[in-house]
Amino acid sequence: MKVLKFGGTSVGTAERIKHVGELAATSACNIVVLSAMSGTTNTLVEIGEYLYKGNIPGAQETINALETKYAAVISELLDTPDGRNRASVAIGRSMAILRSFCRGEFGGEDAEKEILAQGELMSTALMEAHLLERGLRPVMLPALDFMRTLENGEPDMEYITDRIRRLIELEPDAALYITQGYICRNSQGKIDNLKRGGSDYTASLIGAAVDAEEIQIWTDIDGMHNNDPRYVEGTRPVGTLHFEEAAELAYFGAKILHPTCVLPAKLANIPVRLLNTMAPEAPGTIICNTVPDGRIKAVAAKDNITAIKIKSGRMLLAYGFLHKIFDIFEKYRTSIDMMATSEVGVSVTVDDDSRLSAIVDELKDFGTVTVDRDMVILCIVGDLEWHNRGAETSVLEALRDIPVRMISYGGSNYNISVLVQASDKLRALRLLSERLFAGNEND
Ligand code: ASP
Ligand code: MG
Repeated sequence: MKVLKFGGTSVGTAERIKHVGELAATSACNIVVLSAMSGTTNTLVEIGEYLYKGNIPGAQETINALETKYAAVISELLDTPDGRNRASVAIGRSMAILRSFCRGEFGGEDAEKEILAQGELMSTALMEAHLLERGLRPVMLPALDFMRTLENGEPDMEYITDRIRRLIELEPDAALYITQGYICRNSQGKIDNLKRGGSDYTASLIGAAVDAEEIQIWTDIDGMHNNDPRYVEGTRPVGTLHFEEAAELAYFGAKILHPTCVLPAKLANIPVRLLNTMAPEAPGTIICNTVPDGRIKAVAAKDNITAIKIKSGRMLLAYGFLHKIFDIFEKYRTSIDMMATSEVGVSVTVDDDSRLSAIVDELKDFGTVTVDRDMVILCIVGDLEWHNRGAETSVLEALRDIPVRMISYGGSNYNISVLVQASDKLRALRLLSERLFAGNEND
């Protein structure tokens, strides 16, 4: 059994839903995880915002517009009165829930989460109606019946595994199973979600729970590219990535895969394949626990980075200095991405600068503080086990004409991070591609 997850753009129009239906129906009994149609979750967020502000007409108008949009999708997607009726009932149910919050008390966060859940409930209902119309026998596995988090917000793997397996056993003759990405219940049984972009996480959790043969993440790009196609020409999809490499890339900006998605699949040793809905025959990228092959695979960049340097004579030969510095970041709940140390100073980077002035103020107790804003982390990913020779050299050679603020290497076997000014980002990405990937056709 495979788990196939289709993102918002892949189910963004009636035509796209039909296309996904075709892809999902061609292979044998799989679990199909769907996101909300693209734009819907943002609209639901907006509805929540109007309600928080007590702006009922704002919420009502937004709901009306959403309803009109779905009515158009229904008439384009479904041909039979039966199919249209089935879909209208489901969409109507979601609209009624949204409208109920305009009439009665808006209950804050719990209500907001119920609002946000409607996107995936609607997209899966449309897919179910469509597949039925195609003469298939899809079985809905309601995510709210098996996807659950613990008190600490982590998935309750035991519960999820037990419940989804039982739901599947009840329907052994299904042509395929459909379920909602992103939505879940929390430890109190209330409707909740796995955070924005969480459908990838759903797919990975389900894959682990049913011990799937493969988890497929279908998007509108043909795999994880070796550089950012928005800025660099001639990028190519990477054939194979190690889970650790994928995790670095996902975190450092390759938007194609949500970072949380990697861990459950990696632990359960289930390969994740990234595929393109618009080019289903393309091989895409396969992410697994591959054997290392000594190669650099890809480059990504993370924007809006601030570097902070703390220089102090007191650090010399002293212990406990780093601890005091880190304590301050912990106090302000600001996580550090990259660091470099010397005998008399330490530089760190953060991507959340909302508490920066308080942090800098406290750091001044320990030394002289310098802040560099508008920086970018270039993340070079591959098999960078330290015995492999030459990889660091190629990276730095590529960047020989670019001022480098920090370098971090050796933190893992899979990554070199280099901090440069945002104004040098494009040139740096292009130079890295030229040096690292030119002529390298079969990665
Ligand atoms: N619909 C949710 C979002 O837009 C979850 C997802 O698409 O992964 O964030
Ligand atoms: Mg990210």
